Amino acid sequence: MSTTGKVIRCRAAIVWKPGGSFSIEEVEVAPPKAKEVRVKMVATALCGTEMKMLKTKNLQHQYYPIIMGHEGAGIVESVGEGVSTVKAGDKVIALFLPQCGECTSCLNSAGNFCIKFKQRETHLMSDGTSRFTCKGKPVYHFANTSTFSEYTVMNEISVTKIDAAAPLEKVFLVSCGFSTGYGGAINTAKVTPGSTCAVFGLGGVGLSVIMGCKAAGAARIIAVDINKDKFEKAKEVGATECINPQDYEKPIQEVLFDLTGDGVDFSFEVIGNPETVAAALASCHESHGVCVIIGLVTGVQLNISGHLFFSGRTLKGSVYGGWKGRDGASKLVSDYMAKKINLDALITHTLNFDKINEAVELMKTGKWQCPLCPVTLSMMLTN
Ligand code: NAD
Ligand code: ZN
Repeated sequence: MSTTGKVIRCRAAIVWKPGGSFSIEEVEVAPPKAKEVRVKMVATALCGTEMKMLKTKNLQHQYYPIIMGHEGAGIVESVGEGVSTVKAGDKVIALFLPQCGECTSCLNSAGNFCIKFKQRETHLMSDGTSRFTCKGKPVYHFANTSTFSEYTVMNEISVTKIDAAAPLEKVFLVSCGFSTGYGGAINTAKVTPGSTCAVFGLGGVGLSVIMGCKAAGAARIIAVDINKDKFEKAKEVGATECINPQDYEKPIQEVLFDLTGDGVDFSFEVIGNPETVAAALASCHESHGVCVIIGLVTGVQLNISGHLFFSGRTLKGSVYGGWKGRDGASKLVSDYMAKKINLDALITHTLNFDKINEAVELMKTGKWQCPLCPVTLSMMLTN
């Protein structure tokens, strides 16, 4: 029986209050309105960003109850009025960074930060309402995606159609972690052949940065993490050396200067910590070094000596690896299908959706290789 135009009841992982855990609940998902699509999620994962949200009791917002999740892929169930780029049955990637195609960012070839991203700040759809209810209460959206629900409603500009043959339980990683890290190296830093790179933080995003540095032809890729259990996987994906700052008395930037002579050509902060941003910048070559901040460093001021810039170093931000949302995701899925990229190394655990709190515990303990995507929350569908 067709569900088009009807409310769908399904399961979602709701966080009811700041600092709370996920609670699997039955929710009602309203049909998509104009320029919206309703998607049956097939695979999703936890990202460091959700972990930060769960940990933070005093969030930048008070939008609860909420359905989080911004990394996922699924199949379009139905579309609202005026949707022209996807149709029911299409496989799609969810995009926390939309691509409206019309704003000053989308029309500029240099950047990728679609101005419509800011709609996420309301945690509602563009008409100011939610498509989710639970126990009679409206539930807030997250990142324009809310992938921790068996069905979700997203804007047309927040999904991109992909090859019908693409395995969703693999390619969903281009929704956030892989693209962010890989593109951070290739698009934002523009890593050059023969260069030396340092990657601070070896979660799923940091591992993807290493893959990007390797693909760009870097000669040395120095992986930095305080958890040595991450080193094996880092080497598997391309790191040439791995170092733990806790093994040294000196600041890590001095260690990197000792190792490289004059500092690294490119450094990446993939943790989200103001101190490691300063260390990554100071690790760069004084003249041409480029440091890219990928980690989420929000709500804090950076304490960086202006002197570091005197000799020519560059500090850059990067969101979604510099890819324009829809174009980037579909290109990367095509690259996956053409075997130009391999995502297998990034998936370490596959759990059922109702085990989402176990996924959080796995992330917290950090004992697995890839904390960004330790878990594919394959959804158990009820409809
Ligand atoms: P993660 O928490 O899984 O990985 C962080 C790694 O950093 C861990 O391996 C941890 O051991 C290591 N670490 C922590 N403190 C350290 C220190 N002082 N020195 C060295 N290593 C240290 O995170 P993730 O999922 O890989 O995400 C990384 C960051 O990227 C997060 O801040 C996340 O919010 C951010 N992010 C940004 C974007 C974007 O578009 N810019 C997209 C996705 C994620
Ligand atoms: Zn735009």
